[in-house]
Amino acid sequence: MVYAQENAGVGIPYMIKVIKLRLYKDKWFLFFIYIVDKKGSPEIAKLCKCNDQTIRNWLNKFNIPIRSFSEVQKGKILSEEHKRRISISNKIAMNRPEVRKKLRESQLGKVLTEEHKRKIGVSVRISHSRPEIRRKISKALKGIKRSEEFKRKMSETNKNEKNSSWKGDNVGYNALHDWVRRHKPKSNICEICGKEKKLTLSNTSGKYKRDINDFRWLCYSCHRKFDFYGISDTLIYD
Ligand SMILES: [Zn+2]
Repeated sequence: MVYAQENAGVGIPYMIKVIKLRLYKDKWFLFFIYIVDKKGSPEIAKLCKCNDQTIRNWLNKFNIPIRSFSEVQKGKILSEEHKRRISISNKIAMNRPEVRKKLRESQLGKVLTEEHKRKIGVSVRISHSRPEIRRKISKALKGIKRSEEFKRKMSETNKNEKNSSWKGDNVGYNALHDWVRRHKPKSNICEICGKEKKLTLSNTSGKYKRDINDFRWLCYSCHRKFDFYGISDTLIYD
C-alpha cells in the first residue's frame, strides 16, 4: 500500500504500475508474495492481471516449490459461513444415489490401517456419546426399512456390545468414571480451550488410574482432538 500512496499523487494507479513492471518476473517478489505472504497463484495472477499458469511457470523457473491442492486447503482457515455452505452442499450431494454409489466404490478396495481404524472408532464413540448426535441418529433411522440381513447383523453386534465395556458390563471402567465424577469437581470451563461448553470426562494417560489428576473435564471438541491426535494442552485450537 505504501507503493500505492507514493504513486497516488502522480496519478498512476497501483495496478497499472504492477502490470508494467510484471512483478511476477522478479524472484524476490514472487518468493515473498507466494511463500511469505502465502498468496495463492490465482490471487497473484489476479493482482498482476496475468494468467494463473504464467505465475506457476515463473514459480517453476525460480525453483519455488508449488503448493499442492491439499496443502492449500490445509492452510485455509474457513469461515463459519464457508463451513456451513460446505456442509450443506455435502448433504445435498450425499442425497444423490449416484454420488453415494461413487463414494462406496472409491472406498471399496481401501485397506484401513489399524491406527486409522482405531482413530475412527474413538471419534465415532465420542460423537455418539453426545445427546444431540444420538437424537439425530435415531431421528434419521426412524421409518427406514431394514433388510432381514441387516437386522440379523445388528442383533449380533448388539450381543457383542453387551459383553464389551461399551454397554456397561465393564464394571471397573464405569465404576472408575463414577468415582472420578464424584471426586473431581466439575466446572463448565473446558480444561484445554478454556471455553464455557458442555463437558465430558477425559482420561489423560490412557491408563485409567484411580487418580482424579489423571482425568480432565473437556469439551467434546477438545476431547475428540485429544483422543484422536493426542494433542497436548499447550496447543490452543479453535
Ligand atoms: Zn475445549
